[in-house]
Amino acid sequence: MTHLLGVVGDPVTHSLSPFIHNGWLRAHQIDAVYSAFEVKGGELASGLDALARQGVIGLNITLPHKEEAMRLAASVSGTAHRLGAVNFLVRREDGWIGDNTDAPGFGLTLDFGDIEVSGRNVFLLGAGGSARAVASVLADRGARLTICNRTAQRAEALARDLAPEASILSLEEGLKQLPSAALVVNTLSLGHSGGNLKLPEAAGGIFYDISYGKGAAAALTEAKAKGWRSLDGLGMLVAQAAISFEHWFGVMPDMAEAHARCRRLVEATS
Ligand code: NDP
Repeated sequence: MTHLLGVVGDPVTHSLSPFIHNGWLRAHQIDAVYSAFEVKGGELASGLDALARQGVIGLNITLPHKEEAMRLAASVSGTAHRLGAVNFLVRREDGWIGDNTDAPGFGLTLDFGDIEVSGRNVFLLGAGGSARAVASVLADRGARLTICNRTAQRAEALARDLAPEASILSLEEGLKQLPSAALVVNTLSLGHSGGNLKLPEAAGGIFYDISYGKGAAAALTEAKAKGWRSLDGLGMLVAQAAISFEHWFGVMPDMAEAHARCRRLVEATS
């Protein structure tokens, strides 16, 4: 029987997850298909019931459902519980079991990029959902973390929950101090709405934007112009997908191949 899997979100048609996972399913000759399912905010409970009835065995969860998925899962991993968000579900007899693969996915990209953060100054721009996953990894690895966000209360809550040693700055002040960072991780979503950051000249640091494609284009152009070594979020996208795939099927897929495939697709459509 062909297994069904997919990603649930709104919007979701732009998601690269079907492209990534269906390539791996073919490569591993697994009889399954991975689709995108649009489910409106507030309708996740009925959406999950309907997908379970259709025989869906595994899901990734994206905006705006990651917190709601946490509440609806029969049980969740320690990582998901700590982050307050679920982006991975697997169907078991007693219901959906949740996990969060964004945090380990980000961690894998640091490993692959040979980016050492222990004891180093790391600036995190943003305090939204993805910033929580990023901050947990950076704090666990001993980074000297500074969180910069437009809304101070959100940065304070993030630090309280996940990175109690972190310093907090306004976005404006953080941008001024950016050259002192060995690594800047940009999780701001303003690239999607046409906004951009005015960055200072680099002093040898890395600018890692976890967005990709059009969402990251303006910030990465600015970062390169100011001399930052830069990378985008395609690696994180592929890494969190690979960890999901391994959870479902017990085999780690080829991340380098998927990364190259995604890079070609994003460049062709940007
Ligand atoms: P959230 O909506 O949870 O957070 C958005 C962040 O951007 C907040 O810190 C918010 O600040 C800030 N922000 C938004 N607009 C502005 C603005 N005009 N000026 C200043 N700050 C602004 O989003 P997520 O954390 O879920 O996602 C953020 C980005 O990360 C997205 O682009 C998403 O595509 C990408 N992403 C990539 C992943 C990958 O695998 N590569 C995984 C997950 C996300 P405030 O708190 O003040 O509102």
